[in-house]
Amino acid sequence: MNLLSSGATLRFSGGLEPSIFVYRDPAAALDSPSQDGLINGEVELVLKRAAEPVLSIHFTVEAKLKLPDGTTQEGVVDERSVVIRSEGPHDALQPGLHRFLWSLIIPSSTAPSENASYGDIRHRLEVRASGLGSFGGTIRDYRYVGVAQVPSAGKSAPLPRLDSRLQAYTPDLGPIALTFVAEVLIVAGLLAYRIDLPAPTASQTIETTLVIEQAYTIKPLGRSDQVFEPTPAQHVLETRSVSIVAGEEACIQRVVRLPAGRFRQYDWAPVRASTLPGTNTPLAIAHKLVLNITHELDGERKVFNIAVPVTIMHCLCTSASLELPGYSELAPTHAPLEPPHQAKHSSYWRHRISYRCTCALTDAELMESDGPKLMAAIAPAPAAPPPKASA
Ligand SMILES: [Zn+2]
Repeated sequence: MNLLSSGATLRFSGGLEPSIFVYRDPAAALDSPSQDGLINGEVELVLKRAAEPVLSIHFTVEAKLKLPDGTTQEGVVDERSVVIRSEGPHDALQPGLHRFLWSLIIPSSTAPSENASYGDIRHRLEVRASGLGSFGGTIRDYRYVGVAQVPSAGKSAPLPRLDSRLQAYTPDLGPIALTFVAEVLIVAGLLAYRIDLPAPTASQTIETTLVIEQAYTIKPLGRSDQVFEPTPAQHVLETRSVSIVAGEEACIQRVVRLPAGRFRQYDWAPVRASTLPGTNTPLAIAHKLVLNITHELDGERKVFNIAVPVTIMHCLCTSASLELPGYSELAPTHAPLEPPHQAKHSSYWRHRISYRCTCALTDAELMESDGPKLMAAIAPAPAAPPPKASA
């Protein structure tokens, strides 16, 4: 300890939640009101002698980008702060322990935490007390917290259900109907799909490949004129091979799982959450579900594809997490939640968190909870007319 410092100590205390959820409805207009996040906490200041510090909380969105042109960049995307004890005139704080409660609004346009191939976005929360450090400087404590976006209008609004039905026609295959259903489309969650070929035009073997296309838009810091849009990555969910007979109805009906994050490593699934419109971020991610149908006709290999844009949620955005967030293990006053399928990621900010993350669920657990509903949702309706052909 510096002899010239006041010997005061400052730290975050209490049950600071390690993740903040902000809500944005992807279907709403960009300027419509959305529900901002709120982070609450407590700080402890221990004084050895009376003092009159100014106390403030600072929230900083930090980005470290690996740009496609090979350069790297580090900088601040956004920052905001709140004063929790202002400059006088008021009584000096006496020696001993002082606790301060604080809260800070996190706008729903805040860049979510990201740990991706093109860089990281992290959120630093810092408390500062002026005049208590060496030579009258500032003492501080900091933590990193996570920010996840939820694609819904607010805490009480339902999470979006995916139910997408597309129709197409190709002379080589006849009419094609495609159905995608998910209770919620979430990283590491389940997706059901059905391909109907009600009247194939030729007998042949077809290969169907279901892909998640993940596209990044990277905006270098401080250069508003430049945008990188590297070739989207293709994450294959499943490939099936089916023989079809001319004029005979064919159907493929499947439930697949999106890739999960590696257990014990926070937030590292290869398929990321989609970035919601209107987010102030240098790293935006968009997704499409793409079905490729490959077949060979008269010695010629042909590929037919159908794509639908989708929003994939962060794996922490389970209804259980949103209703009952976990607590930092560093919070001695709160017992961590012990749900049956608790995920314990060792995060890169060195705090352990306990959340209900979809990545931690086994295939069997997911199938047990969502499988029957999904299969029922994509089952063909008994008396439904066959899908109409359209170009
Ligand atoms: Zn996860």
